[in-house]
Amino acid sequence: MFLENASRKGYIEVICGSMFSGKTEELIRRLKRAKFANQRVEIFKPKIDVRYSDEDVVSHDSNAIRSTPVDSSGNILLMSADVDVVGIDEAQFFDQNLVEVCRQFFDRGIIDVCRQLADSGIRVIVAGLDMDYRGVPFGPMPALMATAEYVTKVHAICVRCGNLAHHSHRLTADSKLVMLGEKDTYEPICRHCFRELYNKEK
Ligand code: ZN
Repeated sequence: MFLENASRKGYIEVICGSMFSGKTEELIRRLKRAKFANQRVEIFKPKIDVRYSDEDVVSHDSNAIRSTPVDSSGNILLMSADVDVVGIDEAQFFDQNLVEVCRQFFDRGIIDVCRQLADSGIRVIVAGLDMDYRGVPFGPMPALMATAEYVTKVHAICVRCGNLAHHSHRLTADSKLVMLGEKDTYEPICRHCFRELYNKEK
C-alpha cells in the first residue's frame, strides 16, 4: 500500500484515533519495518508526553522504540538531517502554546514542519488523537489529515457496549485540554454512548 521502496520522494502518513486504539503500536510497526530495511529512522514526540519514559515512544503494551522528546516542532527540522523516515507520536500536543494568530499567519507549527520534511524527500509518519475528550478535532490533527497522502483511522472498542469506539471519554471533571492519562482517566466509547453521556451531562 505504501511506496517506501518504490521511490525516495517524501510523503505524509497520518495514523489517528481515540485513546486505546493502537495508534502508537501502528506507528511502531511501520517504523520497525523501515528500520528492518536499513532505512534511517528518527522518532520524535512532544516533551509534554512523559507518562512512561523520556526516551522511548512507548505504546500501552510496552512495545517501545527509542525516541527524542522535543520542545517545539521546529526542533524536528533541525534534527532530521540524513534520515529516510521521521516518526512523530502524540502530534496533537505539538505547539499548544503558540498563539493562534501566530499559528495562522506566521508559523503553522507541526503542519509546516511535516510539509517541509515531506517536500525534502522524507517519509513522515504522524500519529495522534484526532479528537479531544469533548469530541472536537484536536489541534493540528485536522490539517495534518487534510494535507497527508495517507490517513489511517484506527479504532478502540467501546467499553460500554462493544461497538467500535472513536471517542476518548474523560472520566474526571478536569476541563484542561492537555491532560495525560491512562485507564483511570479516559475510556474509549462509541458515538452512541458518547451522545447518551453528553445528553445526560447537559
Ligand atoms: Zn458504545
